[in-house]
Amino acid sequence: MSKDLAYRILLYYKYVSLPDYEQFAAEHLRYCKELGVKGRILVAKEGINGTVSGTIAQTEQYMRDMHNNPLFHDMVFKIDEAEGHAFKKIFVRPRAELVTFRLDKHLDPNEITGKRLSPAEFHEKLQQEDVIVLDGRNNYEFDIGHFRNAIRPDVEAFREFPEWIRKNMSQYKDKPILTYCTGGIRCEKLTGFMIEEGFKEVYQLDGGIVTYGQDPQVKGRLFDGKCYVFDERISVPINRTEEDIIVGRCHHCGKPEDRYINCANDLCHSQHICCEECEEIHNSFCSVQCEEQEMIRCEA
Ligand SMILES: [Zn+2]
Ligand SMILES: [Zn+2]
Repeated sequence: MSKDLAYRILLYYKYVSLPDYEQFAAEHLRYCKELGVKGRILVAKEGINGTVSGTIAQTEQYMRDMHNNPLFHDMVFKIDEAEGHAFKKIFVRPRAELVTFRLDKHLDPNEITGKRLSPAEFHEKLQQEDVIVLDGRNNYEFDIGHFRNAIRPDVEAFREFPEWIRKNMSQYKDKPILTYCTGGIRCEKLTGFMIEEGFKEVYQLDGGIVTYGQDPQVKGRLFDGKCYVFDERISVPINRTEEDIIVGRCHHCGKPEDRYINCANDLCHSQHICCEECEEIHNSFCSVQCEEQEMIRCEA
């Protein structure tokens, strides 16, 4: 790959007070358009969370400019190499919360959060016998890849976690709990919530699965399958040892597979794991109903 054709994807977040977040979002959007980066950035009173793609020069400039802002001087950027943009457009959206957590009270990770573990520390703790490993993501993210022996939370959105934890995790309050998510942002709140709920020993993977996969010592060990990401790549490899395996299963035939596609029915659009053969057989539909519904719609 020639150097000027090389792209990068930056993943970052910071919980920091941004009282004028709506104005900041408007200005930041103008700035991003001028610079030429694409991506999805959420801005809230409690901080910023973004994934952006651009050339090496553009992303270097972006990181420099962000670090020059006193609010973000210590922002940690996870950097992935890429062959092009990972987004079609740039969005900077003001939001009430960075990650939506259905709770009556506000949780500030700068005040209460689980103990942060480096990839090496996390890898070591994973192998202890008495630990409970909890995936801090949604069920469809878990299904294509997760840490070995992790608990699969049956939630489709992050805001469902408080209720799910109260119902399914209370027997583990005295056990060491290890949590992880894609880049770390969700666990900051999840672990704070668990501590408030009376869990005594709660740890989080600092920098998330993405950082874990880049660590030169652990090399993604004990992570099985791929990591779901919220951009055009859909998933990225993490485990760089010979133990790399496929954990997903085709929605139609059950064969090992880790690619997600969207149902061809515009009214469904359900993302499902599908092998190439079944994609052809089922014309990219997730179900017979979806295929029939679409045929009736087209004939009408
Ligand atoms: Zn199949
Ligand atoms: Zn469908």
